[in-house]
Amino acid sequence: MEQETNSWTDERVERLKYLWSQGMSASEIAQELGDVTRNAVIGKAHRLGLSGRPSPIRKKTKGVTILDLTERMCKWPIGDPKHPDFRFCGHQAVQGMPYCAEHCAMAYQSPNKKKAEDEEKRAANT
Ligand SMILES: [Zn+2]
Repeated sequence: MEQETNSWTDERVERLKYLWSQGMSASEIAQELGDVTRNAVIGKAHRLGLSGRPSPIRKKTKGVTILDLTERMCKWPIGDPKHPDFRFCGHQAVQGMPYCAEHCAMAYQSPNKKKAEDEEKRAANT
């Protein structure tokens, strides 16, 4: 504990507050600050009352930016492309498809439904 308090200069505390507010994870902050463990960062953040922070930049459920998007990820757009919060779904895409199962269903719902109806009609006519 002694060791921990020594490493928290005002400057480092300010840096911690800033990085934390940017949504960086505790381990990323620890790396950035150096000389400090992830647990120490979490402990310090709690003592500073920083636990209620905005959602992290990279959180899978919140979608991914174009920079994080890979071929295997769902490319379903979320939000307004003109808005800085614009994201892509980022869930694992169905093989051979640009979207995850959920978004494939949304994207291809109408044609599939129509096709099914056509087939039904054809079946009824024969
Ligand atoms: Zn998706």
